[in-house]
Amino acid sequence: RLTSNMDWSEFQLNSDGLIPVIVQDYKTNEVLMLAYMNEDAFHITLSIGKMTYWSRSRQELWTKGMTSGHVQYVKSLTLDCDHDTILAKVSQVGAACHTGNPTCFFQDLVAEEYLEKNPLKVFENEFNIIKDRKTNPKEGSYTNYLFDKGIDKILKKVGEEATEIVIAAKNPDPEEIKYEIADFLYHVMVLMVEKGLSWDDVIEELSQR
Ligand code: AMP
Ligand code: ZN
Ligand code: ZN
Ligand code: ZN
Repeated sequence: RLTSNMDWSEFQLNSDGLIPVIVQDYKTNEVLMLAYMNEDAFHITLSIGKMTYWSRSRQELWTKGMTSGHVQYVKSLTLDCDHDTILAKVSQVGAACHTGNPTCFFQDLVAEEYLEKNPLKVFENEFNIIKDRKTNPKEGSYTNYLFDKGIDKILKKVGEEATEIVIAAKNPDPEEIKYEIADFLYHVMVLMVEKGLSWDDVIEELSQR
């Protein structure tokens, strides 16, 4: 059982008597979703240590993961300056979004060029496109050609591209290696999708070393 050093009566509620909760992954700080709590939801969250909300669409208390199994274990709850928003850091099991996406926030409205320059974003976008090709095959797509040929073809390409990096690194033209590394990383991502691995899996392993 968790104890709060603030009482529900000290919260600045919205016009529906609810408090919005911003939910973040406690390790990566990724923003996962936004939901609302009423007083019962807040107290249940404290007593069971799993994020529990008031569903505005279903008008009922809702412990996240009740049906999907994608529960959120409370790591911390923090109130903002004017007491009208809670920030929850959680350990998320599975996907936070009911669509199966890791986070609810995946529909870019405005995407400035920083997206193209942020390495993690580029990997994530590219990876999502490859994953999408697998579920929604596209006519003439090289990625679909690889998936159709199967794992052995993908592995052969990964091996070839790795070798090409080695050759390019010995080449005096400094441009070459950049193409080969890009080719290699693309094929590695195709392999990851084929094997059901996500960047999160790989990053988690790397960050633990
Ligand atoms: P769950 O709590 O994950 O078992 O999902 C139960 C239901 O809650 C789903 O069918 C959705 O209608 C809804 N739901 C789950 N996750 C979210 C979310 N991140 N945002 C909005 N609604 C959600
Ligand atoms: Zn402030
Ligand atoms: Zn505020
Ligand atoms: Zn969602």
